[in-house]
Amino acid sequence: MIAPIRLLPPQVADAIAAGEVVERPAAAVKELCENSLDAGATRIDVDLEAGGLVRIVVADDGSGIPAGQLDLAVARHATSKLETVDDLARVRSLGFRGEALASIAAVSDLRITSRTPGEEGAWLLHCRAGEALEHRAAARAPGTTVEVCDLFHNTPARLAFLRSERSESAAAVRAVSDLALTHPEVGFSCRSDDRLVLRSPGGTLIDTAAAVFGRDAGELIAVEGAGEIAVSGLISEPRSHRGTRTGLVIVINRRRVHNRALVVAVEDAYAGLLPVGRHPFGVVEVTVDPSMVDVNVHPTKREVRLREEGRVFSAVQRACWAALQEARLSVAGIRPPHTGGDVAGAAGAGQRGLELRESPVFRMLEPWRHPIREATGVRGAPGADLGRSPGDERAGLVDAAGAQAGPMDASPGEPALQQAPDHRLSDLAPLRPLAQTSDGWLVADSPRGLVLVDPHAAHEKILYSELLAEGDAALREGRPATSQLLLVDSVVSVEPAAIERLSESFETLAGLGFQLESFGPGLVRCGAVPAAAASLDPARLVRDLLDGLPGGDDATARRRRLAALTACHAAVRLGERLDAREQLRLLERLVVTPGGLTCPHGRPTVVVLDDRSLRRAFGRPTV
Ligand code: ADP
Ligand code: MG
Repeated sequence: MIAPIRLLPPQVADAIAAGEVVERPAAAVKELCENSLDAGATRIDVDLEAGGLVRIVVADDGSGIPAGQLDLAVARHATSKLETVDDLARVRSLGFRGEALASIAAVSDLRITSRTPGEEGAWLLHCRAGEALEHRAAARAPGTTVEVCDLFHNTPARLAFLRSERSESAAAVRAVSDLALTHPEVGFSCRSDDRLVLRSPGGTLIDTAAAVFGRDAGELIAVEGAGEIAVSGLISEPRSHRGTRTGLVIVINRRRVHNRALVVAVEDAYAGLLPVGRHPFGVVEVTVDPSMVDVNVHPTKREVRLREEGRVFSAVQRACWAALQEARLSVAGIRPPHTGGDVAGAAGAGQRGLELRESPVFRMLEPWRHPIREATGVRGAPGADLGRSPGDERAGLVDAAGAQAGPMDASPGEPALQQAPDHRLSDLAPLRPLAQTSDGWLVADSPRGLVLVDPHAAHEKILYSELLAEGDAALREGRPATSQLLLVDSVVSVEPAAIERLSESFETLAGLGFQLESFGPGLVRCGAVPAAAASLDPARLVRDLLDGLPGGDDATARRRRLAALTACHAAVRLGERLDAREQLRLLERLVVTPGGLTCPHGRPTVVVLDDRSLRRAFGRPTV
């Protein structure tokens, strides 16, 4: 039996965070969908016209509103979800203020058609600018449809604040996707101007994530952390990332929240795995006792207050870190030949035969998309192989179909995922070197199949991890980090302004094994370097470190950047010949390197061609 809708007593109404609930169409869409979820709907269909300004329709198959209570539903502070002030402390429903329908009704032309399962037929209530115009019988299966037309028609000031139709529409679709992600078991559809922009089937989080994140969802890894502060969800593989933070959805007790600290907690787990300036995406869900969360602090419930935020922060960070440790390897996804027009078409005219490097059947799931320059933030470090264009990086491995599907871009109906076999870096041990190709790639055999290794990226990550680990150990044990004393001190001349910047980092650099000091105007003396960098020209290394030191970094970011830069210089170059022993040593170290599947800039270090992929490529039945 669902609770009747009641007017809240004034003292409860007053205790509720006041504010404007509906400031844009997306907010109305969110409130209406939340009502449907609170009503136990299993399907919610949203239809938008002109970004929601002309029309919003939200239809559900939930519990419905009894005919006699329709007018109460649109009354202010009328809710079926809360009775006393004490209930506020343990809110489990999404709504509780009894304000949304009233606020929407006040600024639109609103029709609610609803039927409870016990009723013979449906009832419709029509209001305009908050005035009830009509209450009559109607036809509808059990559930509720709310139709909102001409939103803000009577509040021109509000209308003037809205952005373009496009961005209002995008915000509304995002509101629906957020709710789909927080309620994956509920089926959602969203049309915008008759275009189906989201269809989430209602199932597992993976299914919903596939609908929301499109093809990228194939790259999501599961997060799990049990306990008093439970953490779950799906986060992006280090190899796929985005330019903004908007793809990371933080959920607390099934409510999407905007909590900067928790976004930072997730990003921290990716430290050293992503290029600078790139961000992970996915859904991270925190489940705690409702008494630990105060949802009543923000009018649109965008923000919540967490008791013991510090503990929640570490729980999230730990769970994401653990998930990333287990992240899958880069696996070349190979389509069977002749699978369809798009493949043949994309191959381009004149292409004959199966040339592996160029062929679209040799299709990698996620091409490396970002120039390494952007990744390191290094400006033209001489001698380092930072000058390759992104085109070189992706040669032969780019998805022939080209464009990456962004969020909402996934065309509905088409399976968004191409299944990547579930390999982990540790599964590849023992990694046995077979050869080095003339281009310099390493070819190795592993229990999971043939493995191709980028020796530079792999070595870079090994050195990077070792540098940081040694620095941490030295700090813990209160000793200086191991370094290689130079036979002859190297004196480097640098611009006076740059010396300032460098001297701020002397301590950080000492933690990595460098010994540097100012040595008169415009000069820096280097007495020792990290053991890994022993064979490099110290003067050049110091100058490059200087180039890689933009101001404004926090200490941790600066330390990682300096470690990445040192590792990049010290690592073998692609193309450099390695003898069998060196190859073996590199591969052995790689498989035990934490986060070793990507280099410090987020590029993959290995690509696996497993039996399944090869069978597909050769057109053999998979076993
Ligand atoms: P709140 O959700 O905070 O209670 P609303 O103004 O959003 O306030 O809704 C008022 C009441 O109308 C709800 O408490 C609920 O009983 C009823 N209601 C609104 N939408 C629906 C729906 N889609 N299905 C069933 N009941 C609904
Ligand atoms: Mg509500």
